Amino acid sequence: MNKDENHFLLVVLDGLGDRPVKVLGGRTPLEAAQTPNLDWLMKKGRGGFIEPVFEGPFPTSKDAHLSLFGYSLRKWNMGRGVFEAAGLGVKLKKNDLAFRGNWATVDEGLKILDRRAGRIKETKVLVRALKKIHSVSGVRFIINSGIEHRFTLVMRGKNLSDQITANDQHQAGVKVPLIASLDDRPESQRTAAILNHFLEEAHRLLKNHPFNKARKEKGLPPANYLLLRGAGQLREIPSFQEKWNCSAYFITGGGLYRGVAKILGMKEVKVTGATGKTVTNLAGKFQTAAEVIKKTPFLFLHVKGTDIYSHDGDCQGKKEFIEKIDQALKPLLDLSGTTVAVTADHATPCEEREHSRDLIPVLVWSKKIREDALEHFGEKECAKGSLGLIKQNQFLATVLENWL
Ligand code: ZN
Ligand code: ZN
Repeated sequence: MNKDENHFLLVVLDGLGDRPVKVLGGRTPLEAAQTPNLDWLMKKGRGGFIEPVFEGPFPTSKDAHLSLFGYSLRKWNMGRGVFEAAGLGVKLKKNDLAFRGNWATVDEGLKILDRRAGRIKETKVLVRALKKIHSVSGVRFIINSGIEHRFTLVMRGKNLSDQITANDQHQAGVKVPLIASLDDRPESQRTAAILNHFLEEAHRLLKNHPFNKARKEKGLPPANYLLLRGAGQLREIPSFQEKWNCSAYFITGGGLYRGVAKILGMKEVKVTGATGKTVTNLAGKFQTAAEVIKKTPFLFLHVKGTDIYSHDGDCQGKKEFIEKIDQALKPLLDLSGTTVAVTADHATPCEEREHSRDLIPVLVWSKKIREDALEHFGEKECAKGSLGLIKQNQFLATVLENWL
């Protein structure tokens, strides 16, 4: 792509797609929202749908973003832990094995009482305490605190395998299962054994730690166990730059999205107050994007709030948040030499409160593009758009080849 004239800004509103709901008069949140700026882009640009490409019963944000960036999941997918750890700023090395996890509460018999240890917020002192376990059989353990009760764990050493079970089955009231290997390879069995040893040691340190004893005295659940899931091993993956021959930047508030972008070698543009939550600096994100995109060929801008309202089943909140986004993205309307796409990674229908395989609305606008002259950015109008239906992992190629 020609760096000087062609710029591509990809705006991903997480979980934007939805279904018509009664409380919004039989419209989707995007259809019901008052969005003069998105409507302007839709009118001057082209509309359509993206068909999600994913593995498993429904699309995860990780799979959906990899697909959207044009990566084949069969070839390049890795367990979520890799992206979560990278999102927290861990500099992963090839073959590192990473997990996402929860600080949890277990009783004397290792029965899980609380999968989130009372949604514990401050865990730095416990992370420090676990540094005492320097390594097990030559494998190092690196823990980083995430938001609230979440953390990431990285195992670094030789002959590790991600073919092992999780000890977090998303279920309380059961005994914590031991980690087991999923295949017969010696490295899988060794990884499981080392990890079980580490978890036992960690539990011993945590249950006796003064911080947890103090929590117990205050009637709070102690964070005395590490529940792990999303095992992933960092493998080589072509960077975005290598794949598309253009350097890429990103703006996001959230951990996982930062992780996906970082693993693909994109460079971060930080925006003060960008949180990845529903209270975030939307104006700052879009204003910064409008400035940065003038100097860079590709920018990925991620907004999380739409998905959060969807998981809460709050379609009115989602509609109002879309209206806030619309106000914030006004600076994009002045961009010349730039193609702007607004879409989602997947649909998250409010009534389902979960990601779905529904088609995802998309609009693409640039000053050069031929107009569809559609009235409003919404699912119904997208069905009339000239983009038609594009497979998610073909979307970027379609835009880069046709409109830049
Ligand atoms: Zn998502
Ligand atoms: Zn979600």
